Amino acid sequence: MDRDALLSRLAARVSDERVVSAVAAVPREMFVSADLAAAAYEDAPLRIGHGQTISQPAIVARMCELLELKSTDRVLDVGTGSGYHAAVLSRLCAHVWGIELEAQLALRATRSLLAAGIDNVTVTNGDGAAGLPEQAPFDAINVAATAAGGVPPALEQQLALGGRLVAPVDDERGEHLVLVRRLEGGFERTSLDAVRFVPLR
Ligand code: SAH
Repeated sequence: MDRDALLSRLAARVSDERVVSAVAAVPREMFVSADLAAAAYEDAPLRIGHGQTISQPAIVARMCELLELKSTDRVLDVGTGSGYHAAVLSRLCAHVWGIELEAQLALRATRSLLAAGIDNVTVTNGDGAAGLPEQAPFDAINVAATAAGGVPPALEQQLALGGRLVAPVDDERGEHLVLVRRLEGGFERTSLDAVRFVPLR
């Protein structure tokens, strides 16, 4: 598949045009190694080293849409990996703070984002399950690795009132996306699509 084919495929599945434009604005080939550049516009996950993968564009688009981002939003991206998903998020909000457990991936993501001319993403090396308390609260939180049992409470606690969080969770229903919304009275959690992600460690 080439870039135009991928964009038409996403446009048919994603109703928020801003999300399709955000995917269109990010050169995915800059977030994979040179040997995978020819496959960069396949709607598939690709290897990024350290046993990790760059997420499938359709899933990235779906998660961005669920977060209902506004141009003023401050966003946390947990499991930044290649930096690709953070780059797409960055086109839809004011600033993205990314956390990646693997130091080498965090460094590479920072370089790829810089090379792609994206200046509103800050990548930190660390354990994203604990969130980023020093920058909380966030209007939206994106998690790109599956948490066993449920969404880590520390992440929910770092949501602003009205904030949204999307995360893959593995529980008795299997592995699926969960959308959390922080309301006056507490957290509203909705189980959505079945997905496959690498584990949150
Ligand atoms: N969003 C990424 C997908 C990366 S796959 C992209 O677009 O490329 C998930 C990533 O989560 C991996 O890079 C893995 O190293 C990272 N990860 C796993 N557990 C983590 C944790 N506790 N904190 C931060 N990152 C974690």
